[in-house]
Amino acid sequence: MKIRIIGGGPAGLYFAALMKRDDPAHDIVIYERGPRDATWGFGVVFSDRALDFLRADDEAMVRLLLPHMETWPNLTIVHNDTRIPITGNGFAAIDRLKLLSLLYAHVEKLGARIEFDSAIESLADRERLGGADLIVGANGAFSFVRQENEQRFGATCDWRPNKFIWYGTSRVFDSLCLTFRETGQGVFCAHHYRYSPTMSTFLVEVEEETWKRADFEHMSPEDTIRHCEKIFAKDLGGHPILSNNSYWRNFPAIWNQRWSFGNVVLVGDALRTAHFSIGSGTRLAMEDAIALCKALRETGSVPDGLARFQQLRLPPMRKIWDAANVSLRWYERMGERIKLAPMEFAYDYMTRTGRVNHAEVRRRDPALAEAYEKLHPDANAA
Ligand SMILES: Cc1cc2nc3c(=O)[nH]c(=O)nc-3n(C[C@H](O)[C@H](O)[C@H](O)COP(=O)(O)OP(=O)(O)OC[C@H]3O[C@@H](n4cnc5c(N)ncnc54)[C@H](O)[C@@H]3O)c2cc1C
Repeated sequence: MKIRIIGGGPAGLYFAALMKRDDPAHDIVIYERGPRDATWGFGVVFSDRALDFLRADDEAMVRLLLPHMETWPNLTIVHNDTRIPITGNGFAAIDRLKLLSLLYAHVEKLGARIEFDSAIESLADRERLGGADLIVGANGAFSFVRQENEQRFGATCDWRPNKFIWYGTSRVFDSLCLTFRETGQGVFCAHHYRYSPTMSTFLVEVEEETWKRADFEHMSPEDTIRHCEKIFAKDLGGHPILSNNSYWRNFPAIWNQRWSFGNVVLVGDALRTAHFSIGSGTRLAMEDAIALCKALRETGSVPDGLARFQQLRLPPMRKIWDAANVSLRWYERMGERIKLAPMEFAYDYMTRTGRVNHAEVRRRDPALAEAYEKLHPDANAA
């Protein structure tokens, strides 16, 4: 099969690798507009559950990634000055650039070609896309493949009001931390975790009103960093906040009713975005690749494969997407939630999406469940 993939992020690269693994005769080219060594952001996180899903389909991939991952068994919620460690929540993180470079090498070893510095501007690009049996739009949240065909895909994009900025820091944390600091301007939240022995991701998120009160709109990038360093001084322990093309953004919650038309299909963030608070964007992108490859293999035809892809993948993906959207709304009410006492706040956070009930809290962290039951004796009945 002649397959042309637009976008060399986790979704496009992993799909190429899986297809080549299935059949080395496939002719696959990935067009990536960026250079080989460029990426945005710092590290990305996978929950233990996400790695288990990946392991079930591709043990070799997990073996490839694991030596480069930082892992830890717990989550820490910081409510102003109170730290609440929560057991039973394992995570692993990897440098996004490392993840991509491992995938580049893996894909090229399997015989697919990656053309860097090679932006595709239109599906009508005959020279590069002409004659393809399958065209994969794996070009991220702002995919032109989707934007140019919104009607066909039934695409929607819901811009959420919170603002976030993706920083790093040289401070290495000993668990995944969610730190909430109440200030006169509102609540500042940092999602932070180490992703290498020397670096951590430090993502700052605020409600829109907090962002306005802090006047970030008129602040220089340097002053923005200084302001965030001041707010999180206790957490950074004297380490600097580091920028990598970092700027304030709003999160676009993207969805598509139909995932393909003709021989064109969407995968990864182009297909749907999941808020970073559930740490699943990369995992979902890789699972899309697994599902699409499987659907094509099982049906042996592009039209049937694309129909099967949506049929197979929709139910599990929808569950996570719904949870991500509930989670992002929780962050949009941080200012209210932080009024809770620290332990109740942590419990509220853990159960925010409805996917973790009291029994599950007890299984993960009996001490937290017990503390909650003391205040809410009827919790067991819920
Ligand atoms: C702030 C933030 C934090 C995140 N944290 C996490 C996390 O902790 N864990 C996690 O799992 N996920 C996280 N994610 C999400 C994760 O980064 C994405 O879900 C994931 O990268 C999606 O993979 P993708 O391949 O679909 O898209 P992308 O990684 O966006 O890759 C798309 C690629 O397409 C290329 N491209 C775009 N247009 C064109 C074009 N016209 N021609 C050629 N190439 C093109 C781009 O250069 C890019 O390389 C986070 C995202 C954000 C914004």
